Amino acid sequence: MSAESIEPPSAIRPAASPLSHHPSTESLAAYALGDCSPGTALLIVQHIALCPKCAGAVQSMGASAPAAWVAPAGDDWRTLCPGVEISPVRDVSGLGELVVQIRADPGARLPGSMARRMDELVILAGGFTHQGHAASVGDLWAPGLDQQRELVANKEAGFYGLFTTSDEAWDDELNA
Ligand SMILES: [Zn+2]
Repeated sequence: MSAESIEPPSAIRPAASPLSHHPSTESLAAYALGDCSPGTALLIVQHIALCPKCAGAVQSMGASAPAAWVAPAGDDWRTLCPGVEISPVRDVSGLGELVVQIRADPGARLPGSMARRMDELVILAGGFTHQGHAASVGDLWAPGLDQQRELVANKEAGFYGLFTTSDEAWDDELNA
């Protein structure tokens, strides 16, 4: 990683424009009921802290406002591919689930084969483009099973985010 590697933000900043990637209504309802996994709940909290639309939706379902966001601890970073590093977030995930921090240098490319192995990714700094679509701070992005194309990190800012996964192969990579 270069000297200007992107770092986890010390505080979240509101998105500059309306977000384009939101949790599904089903996911928000499960969150409001306390019926989703701890890792998924963590990502949804990050999203609704930045998304008035989804915050209003969960409040209308009777859920209280989420706690203030705290940067995950841990500096156990390892290289995933050139310009991209990952670090596990300990003690926040449920059974069979991993929560992982990811950071990418400006312009770094994450192959589709790796992006496909994430369940959901929330962007907390910078952004990326994917098949011509931009995703930026606050967006909660799910790759889908047909994910083939690479993610390209923002050319000025790179990106930092959190993803959840149930793919046990990440466990091998994070504990190697
Ligand atoms: Zn939203």
